[in-house]
Amino acid sequence: MTTDMNTPNPALPEIERDPARMRERIAAARAAGRRVGFVPTMGALHAGHASLAARARAECDDVAVSIFVNPTQFAPHEDFGRYPRTLATDCQLLGEQGVRWVFAPEVAAMYPPGAATRVVVQGPADRFEGASRPGHFDGVATVVCRLFQAVPAGAAYFGAKDWQQTVVVKRMVRDLGLPIGIIVCPTVREPDGLAMSSRNAYLSPAERLRAVALSAGLAQAGRLWSEGTGVPAIEAALRQSLAAHDVACDYAAVVDPESLEPLADASGPAIALVAGRLGSTRLIDNRELPRR
Ligand code: AMP
Repeated sequence: MTTDMNTPNPALPEIERDPARMRERIAAARAAGRRVGFVPTMGALHAGHASLAARARAECDDVAVSIFVNPTQFAPHEDFGRYPRTLATDCQLLGEQGVRWVFAPEVAAMYPPGAATRVVVQGPADRFEGASRPGHFDGVATVVCRLFQAVPAGAAYFGAKDWQQTVVVKRMVRDLGLPIGIIVCPTVREPDGLAMSSRNAYLSPAERLRAVALSAGLAQAGRLWSEGTGVPAIEAALRQSLAAHDVACDYAAVVDPESLEPLADASGPAIALVAGRLGSTRLIDNRELPRR
């Protein structure tokens, strides 16, 4: 197929950089009776993000996707500076999903000079990612709250890949009474089981092979869970899977899927959470464990 370079691609989304103008567009669409879905991202999009956009498109009349690498959710030693930024190819992918708007603000538009407000969620934000990355969820909650102001959609779509993030966002929405529904979508994986992530691009070929440790350990955790194995043994097996692939374990835990506290009922349901480091790359994954 040939492409005519002079014909604008009608499928490309409109890019909006200004929060107030973005808000007006969303408000106008909703006032006209259109259902609007929103997918917040940091860009460097892959099939996992595309699945969220596709789900939003299937359930809504219009879809807005934000692309914003949020500095406040990165610690100073983390990868904010080198996080991949691929706006042009991201817009192509989103156009193919029928996305209408890309909201891509500058940092100064999201955090005006002198901004002094932060949203802090306690409870489920304190453990796991919150403990490994102090301040991370303050940054997430603050930016998601700010994004929901700029993109006042009826529903927002998040990936189960970042399970604890979905718990924190749902709690914030509930506690603050924000008028938006939170929809959690399944994790999209590579053929060998590795959860798709923008950070997979950091892995060397050798690390990429070892990275299967997380999903393989979680698959084994799923088998052990359904056989009735106790939580400590499942957590030990998860840690063992990481160690066997020379992946440093930040945490490996089986907990309540909503509170992220230890299980009150050994029959579940539960969530297995894991975080590991390969060289300078940190990966997370999880698996839902149904009531047994
Ligand atoms: P990020 O750009 O990493 O901040 O992710 C934006 C959204 O995409 C979050 O809701 C993630 O949970 C979701 N996401 C990331 N990776 C995947 C995946 N492999 N499958 C499904 N959703 C994902």
